Amino acid sequence: MSATNAKNEQNIDPLKIMEWDKQYVMGTYGRQPIVFVRGEGQYLWDAEGDRYLDFLAGIAVCGVGHCNPRVTQAIQEQAETLFHISNLFHNALQAPLAKRLTELSGMEKAFFQNSGAEANECAIKIARKWGKQTKGPYCNEIITFYGSFHGRTLATVTATAQPKYQEPFAPLPAGFRYCHVGDVKELDEMISDRTCAVMIEPIQGESGVKPVPTEFLHAIRALCNESGVLMICDEVQTGIGRTGHFLASQMSGVTPDIVTLAKGVANGVPMGVCMARGGAANTLVPGDHGSTFGGQPLACAAALATLETIVEDNLMQNATEVGDYFRGELNGLRKSHPDKIADVRGAGLMVGLEFSTPIARDVHAGLLKRRIIANAIGDTILRFLPPLVVTVENCDQVVQAVKDILDSIG
Ligand SMILES: *Cc1c(COP(=O)(O)O)cnc(C)c1O
Repeated sequence: MSATNAKNEQNIDPLKIMEWDKQYVMGTYGRQPIVFVRGEGQYLWDAEGDRYLDFLAGIAVCGVGHCNPRVTQAIQEQAETLFHISNLFHNALQAPLAKRLTELSGMEKAFFQNSGAEANECAIKIARKWGKQTKGPYCNEIITFYGSFHGRTLATVTATAQPKYQEPFAPLPAGFRYCHVGDVKELDEMISDRTCAVMIEPIQGESGVKPVPTEFLHAIRALCNESGVLMICDEVQTGIGRTGHFLASQMSGVTPDIVTLAKGVANGVPMGVCMARGGAANTLVPGDHGSTFGGQPLACAAALATLETIVEDNLMQNATEVGDYFRGELNGLRKSHPDKIADVRGAGLMVGLEFSTPIARDVHAGLLKRRIIANAIGDTILRFLPPLVVTVENCDQVVQAVKDILDSIG
């Protein structure tokens, strides 16, 4: 521990922080009563100096680990060189980052913003403009799927086919229709002359790590090809190596027309990216869209360092190997606790554990007590999104803890 960190931890009063949070921050989050002050790799430290094993990584964000030295150095050097200039000029990093992202993703062009919701907004705008240009003004409908999550802006919350996120904010923008994952017939009937795009997460993250069957992704691709409709993959959570592939759509062998990225792209510096190929890559022209901060030098430096670390440290391979091991061990637990564990699913290091009874919050609390960070989704699902640098020993620790908790629940 460095001297500065030691000093920080002494000077932070967690009770004061939580009191001020209650008083001065809008109450949109049900936060755990912990103030984290420091991170390194797969570990976090709270204000009391206790160390936690982080199997959430800021919700699939810190893929190369907390305070990754390479990313930190890139940020420090960039902060001393040039911080921000706007998109009215070129900066030296945005185009190289776009080039790197297109190479890794099989797309042709990128547009940079600051969040996943914004990346999806860009995808929606491209799809609508493309529909109008190629078919006519009526072609502006986007089909999304029940259980999806695409963000919190008005358009993306409408794309998110879950009423609980939408109801307080009506009226919602028009032009979205919802289909059931896996129902090819329903999708076929829903696609019409009005449809400009079909948008899907290859693995539905927020609704409980629900992989979309590969055959269904292929069916969407085929129907989109048939009807001249764009296929959009929201890879905000599944992208950047999380599943062991750069994109989850690459794992299934499907190439969408538009891919959106965000969470893991700059290891925690806010960045969203909308990537496209073919006609969709050239739909937006000067004046159509923009962003003050999007693709600014500091975020691009962090993203470039993140991508190089993922590639050079073979973190996608690590995600595959350690993820397979982790799911294998959880499946072992499922065999020994068939009355409690209903399902183990996911890909790479995007892992969902579903219980047969509503004990997810208890298991989550038990893990936190044992200084392990995960995420409960509703009453029955536990989600793990560790940094891509975790080891089999880290997984053993988590599996043992889950086992102890399940045994103690009786
Ligand atoms: C997190 C998430 C979003 C929203 O990203 P923000 O950065 O919070 O706006 C969109 N889509 C998916 C699949 C996500 O997981």
